[in-house]
Parts: sequence; structure tokens; C-alpha cells
Amino acid sequence: MEILYLVIPCYNEEAVLKETSKRLKIKMEDLIKKKKISKDSKIVFVNDGSKDNTWNLIKEFHQKDKLFSGINLSRNRGHQNALLAGLMTVKEEADMVISLDADLQDDIDVIDQFVEEYYNGFDIVYGVRSSRKKDTFFKRNSALMFYRMMEKMGVQIVYNHADYRLMSKRTLNGLAEFKEVNLFLRGMVPLIGYKSTTVTYERAERFAGESKYPLKKMLSFAFDGITSFSIKPIRFILFLGLFIFLSSIIILIYALIRYFKGAVILGWTSLIVSIWALGGLQLFAIGIIGEYIGKVYMETKKRPRFIVEEYLNEK
Ligand code: UDP
Ligand code: MG
Repeated sequence: MEILYLVIPCYNEEAVLKETSKRLKIKMEDLIKKKKISKDSKIVFVNDGSKDNTWNLIKEFHQKDKLFSGINLSRNRGHQNALLAGLMTVKEEADMVISLDADLQDDIDVIDQFVEEYYNGFDIVYGVRSSRKKDTFFKRNSALMFYRMMEKMGVQIVYNHADYRLMSKRTLNGLAEFKEVNLFLRGMVPLIGYKSTTVTYERAERFAGESKYPLKKMLSFAFDGITSFSIKPIRFILFLGLFIFLSSIIILIYALIRYFKGAVILGWTSLIVSIWALGGLQLFAIGIIGEYIGKVYMETKKRPRFIVEEYLNEK
């Protein structure tokens, strides 16, 4: 029987952890009883530098029951880094790992199907939301726009899949080869390869606590996703520049004709418009290029993506 680890990043989640751990424990014990997974399987909470009581709760769970383990990061590094920290820390002990959020918005009853597909020979199982009925109007539409844009930019991601997925040990070893600092896991995992499949589920509302992804974080996450995976924006600027240059030749010809016809005082309007338009375009272009240079800067530093302060795990 194979060992399953659940990896759950937690940031200020004291309001949900008691209930989450209870529900997950029932699920895991059921799977162990049905002989679907080994009894060495574990639930691993990754504390992402929470300011509240989260780490104490995790330590308490671990003390009472060795089914629970905990990883304490040295400080808050954000969801993607915390998740990666969990995955990389447990990959030696587990045969398969499922990542999920602490608020259990992702239906844990499909874990059975994840494991089933793993035994069917799939290395990656993506959890895909069947609908977004429970999301707010804004979140639903902004998410749709995000996926459309990613598609246009040529980034291969699984539609309506967040970070609820199963990965096999060799997939995690593959992921470990990706050394980038700008993390966008849902874009990286398809690049690893291996056989994958999807399982659909209904996403629920957060049962307690509040979202740790306010609009600002959401936008910056989407932006990172695009600029970490596609150079299309830069190419777009290249073509825009070329187009404007070609247009300027036409304008030159036009200006010469006007000159020889003797109407030279005219043209203040076109001048002022082109000064503003070109200035704006140049700034925009420099901004996008700067964004990529910033990424290159961060990557060349090769700073650690996370630092584990403590790892509680007992066999
Ligand atoms: N999270 C984290 N570090 C952060 C922000 C969030 O580990 O800096 C975790 C959080 O505890 C949760 C998951 O990431 O388990 C997803 O966050 P949330 O449920 O708030 O996002 P939403 O579902 O609203 O998109
Ligand atoms: Mg959530």
C-alpha cells in the first residue's frame, strides 16, 4: 500500500484548523481502513509565518495524534512558496501527495477518486471545479478573464484548476528540478510531463475565517503568472513599435507633400497628439520590459524560496 501525504499551507487559519483537522482525520482513517493507503500516511500542515495561534494548534495536533505533522516556516512567504516548502519537505517520505487549502473549500470527498486514479497509473491528478456558482460575481468573471488571457498568451494551464491536485513521488522529483524563484505552480506542473488526468468537484464556500487573497494579491498573482510563463507581452511591444515606425514613414510622406504644397503652419494638433501618444507608449513599453528585467534580477539572485524552521514528523 502506498503512503499518502496531504499538504496544507496555513496562514492565520486558527478559525478553521480544528474543524479542518477533524474532517481530514476522518477521511484519512477511512482510507486507511479501506486499505486504499498505508497507515504511515500523514496530514501535514505548513505554517506560513502566521501571526495568530496557528502553529500552536498544529503542534497540539501533532502531540495528540501522530497522523498529524507540521512544518513551521521561518516567516510568511505566501501561498505558493508555503505549498512548495511542504511538497519538497515531504517528498522523500510520501509516494503521493495531495495539496489543498486549509479552509476545505475543495471537496475532500474526491480524495478517494484522486487515489483511485493514482493506482490507475496517473502521476498527476488535477482537481477541477465543476462550477463557480458559490463564487462572487466579481471573482467568477475575473477568473474567467484570467484563464482566457493565459490561453491567449500561450501558457498551458488546466482550466478551473487551482492548487488542489495529487502528485506522485517522481512528479515531485521533477518539480524539484525547477529552480525558479517566481513561483506559479499551476503553470509549472503541466511542464513536468507524465500521465495526468482530472477529477471534477464542487467548490464550497469558506466555512470560517476570511480569504487571505484580497484583490491586490489576486492581481499580482495573475500578473506573475503571465510574466513568469510568457514573453508575448514583450513581443507585442516589438510589433507595436514596428507598426508605429512604419506609420511614421507614411506620415513623413504626407508631411513632405504638404510642405511642397505650401501649407506648413498647420499641424499643431497632430504634433501634440503624437507627443502624448508616443510618450505614453514608450513608458508602457519600458514598464513591461522592466517587469521582465525585475524577474531576471530575482532569478539570478537564487535566493531560497523558503526556510524551514521546524519539521514535526514521527513515524
Ligand atoms: N495561504 C498561505 N500564505 C499566504 C496566504 C494564504 O499559506 O500568505 C494559504 C491559506 O491559509 C489557505 C490557502 O493559502 O490555506 C488559500 O488561501 P485562501 O483560502 O484565503 O484563498 P481563496 O480561497 O480565498 O482564494
Ligand atoms: Mg479559500
